[in-house]
Amino acid sequence: MLVWFQTGDKGRNTLATSDAENLFTEIKERARALDPANMRQWFDKLTVRSFNGGSLEIACPEHPMVNFLKENCKLTFSRAAQQITGHLISVDFYLSNGQETTARNTFPVQVLKLHPDYTFENFVVGPSNRLAHASCVAISQSPGKTYNPLFVYGNSGLGKTHLLQAVCAEAKRKNHSVIIQFLSCENFVNRFIKAIQEGNLAGFQNQFRTVDLLVIDDVQFLREREQSQEEFFHTFNALYNNGKQILLSGDNPPNQIPSLEDRLISRFNWGLVARIDSPGYETRAAIVKQKAILRGLDISDEIAEYIAARVRANIRELEGAITTIYALAAANNEPVSLDAAQIALEGQIKLTARQINITDVINVVTAHFSVRLSDLQSKKRSQSITLPRQICMYLARNLTNHSLEEIGGHLGGRDHNTAMHACNKITQLKDIDQDMEITLNKLSKQIKQATAG
Ligand code: ADP
Ligand code: MG
Repeated sequence: MLVWFQTGDKGRNTLATSDAENLFTEIKERARALDPANMRQWFDKLTVRSFNGGSLEIACPEHPMVNFLKENCKLTFSRAAQQITGHLISVDFYLSNGQETTARNTFPVQVLKLHPDYTFENFVVGPSNRLAHASCVAISQSPGKTYNPLFVYGNSGLGKTHLLQAVCAEAKRKNHSVIIQFLSCENFVNRFIKAIQEGNLAGFQNQFRTVDLLVIDDVQFLREREQSQEEFFHTFNALYNNGKQILLSGDNPPNQIPSLEDRLISRFNWGLVARIDSPGYETRAAIVKQKAILRGLDISDEIAEYIAARVRANIRELEGAITTIYALAAANNEPVSLDAAQIALEGQIKLTARQINITDVINVVTAHFSVRLSDLQSKKRSQSITLPRQICMYLARNLTNHSLEEIGGHLGGRDHNTAMHACNKITQLKDIDQDMEITLNKLSKQIKQATAG
């Protein structure tokens, strides 16, 4: 260990740069052991701004990194510094090269709060998200010129926020002067309410109607908020008419968001509506590898595939699995082995074991329609087989975490598009045929009951 509380300078103790950097490397190593989930490969880019007495100031090259570190790593780094030096050290993070001043002066850009991990580079593309990804890349390259608005939707944890932020980061990287507003819909609504209370509606409108790119995450939050919908409608029109880009995300397609006004639904459908599905096995394995690399961890293909095969729900759970495995390995001071991965995941898998899977769906549907699984998997195209097959796909899509690829695969090696077509067809039928709606509700209920018991 470096002895560094020796060199006095008016009572303060300053380290030579190289010593400070060496010490910082040790501190980072210790921080990794303390909190593996929040370690990132880009920590290599951090440098010591100053290391005086009880204060360690760390410089970061980009703004999102400062936010991430301040929010997630302050305590861990302080603890690590204390353990390494044996002294109480307070740690803080700063933007390098005085960029802070520039950022503050670029009015009217509010400091964009982006997550440093959420970039296109860190996004794994597969059949489940290809369209959403490609359209997001397109609008980041030329906002307002391709798909406008772009509406990305899908279940929770499938990468909507990641893609939206990647668009902002890339648009900003390409053109630093582009004006962007990125916020959750909840935040939009809250700011709107506050503006009304404070009698500052004009200020609010000015903030949103003068941007080049407006990104609103989770617009389902607008449901049943009539006044906010009205305001949003006008914001939308102002931006759209000026050729400014609008990017939205939701948990459902626009026409399935309850109590969303028709005029908003129709506008959201003007551009492109892109769906994100649950990733299939290969994509999941690639995501696990990618997430491990991001954390500076070395993960074998075998372990990545093990995790991908067992954790099939949303991607947050995949990340949780990696963290669990590494935390356990760090705690036991052992390298990560397949055995260790199995032990680490055992508890987690039990937790998700009662999730509905496609067999549960098939059992209920085949019993209801008196058909055999082999019929559903066959090439038969008679209505008495096609309908239950399509219903199976629809219910599996809505009740399980399987991707469309997997669902199609289970039902006789059909592909992603066939499964998607089946789901769309049943959705349409359900909208026009009340009997169909009743049958689907009944079947859903039976499937849920069967798995709950
Ligand atoms: P959503 O907004 O749809 O609920 P998020 O964007 O918050 O989902 O994603 C949840 C987590 O999964 C994030 O850590 C995100 O980085 C990760 N993730 C989702 N899809 C991908 C992907 N295709 N490649 C890499 N990471 C992904
Ligand atoms: Mg989100």
